[in-house]
Amino acid sequence: MEGIMERRFGNRDGGGRHFGGGGFNRETREMHDAVCAKCKKECKVPFKPSKDRPVYCRECFQKKREEEEQ
Ligand SMILES: [Zn+2]
Repeated sequence: MEGIMERRFGNRDGGGRHFGGGGFNRETREMHDAVCAKCKKECKVPFKPSKDRPVYCRECFQKKREEEEQ
């Protein structure tokens, strides 16, 4: 009986460790270096910047969205 209990606890501990050390949400996406088309500031984007589309930093992207909504 005691042996079974120990095994269970061992499994739980291992699972918890895996879950905590994963950091899955933080680094799931590869970040690419880019230069903002508006303020020319260096920034990182979660997609590969292409020459066809202008890349905006977070601030400019938000401003642009606000401007378009008005
Ligand atoms: Zn910008």
